[in-house]
Amino acid sequence: MSDTAEVPFRILPKLTDRNREFWQGGERGELRFWRCQDCQYFVHPPSPICPMCHSKNLAVEAVSGRATLTTYSINHQAWMPGPELPYVVAIIEIVEQPSVRLTTNLVHCPHDEIRIGMRLRVTFEHHPDPEGDVWIPLFEPDPEA
Ligand SMILES: [Zn+2]
Repeated sequence: MSDTAEVPFRILPKLTDRNREFWQGGERGELRFWRCQDCQYFVHPPSPICPMCHSKNLAVEAVSGRATLTTYSINHQAWMPGPELPYVVAIIEIVEQPSVRLTTNLVHCPHDEIRIGMRLRVTFEHHPDPEGDVWIPLFEPDPEA
């Protein structure tokens, strides 16, 4: 989305040194996570210690942006200011490591074409912010799947 007038209001995350790469990776079109450099486990939500091997040797890496749809719901109710109704709240898992799940929105998909397990790819919604711009990762059907 290039026209900021069409970007829905969202409550933006507060950026920290630990989550900044995740929320700002979209500036370069990258979905990024901390990854353990000893056992290769992607650590999300961010943590200073790998939950698998307890290493502190973590670094940020970009993944492919490919994911699968784990579950979803169609929201018809405006609980708070947000995307135009109705919208799809989705839980997705990244293809590199299914234990990395994100709660996000499924976009650019007719509701009657949504299927659990469908292949998705990331797309980013840019929100300028004086505290630091945020690129919210959303997901859409993967045309190459
Ligand atoms: Zn590890």
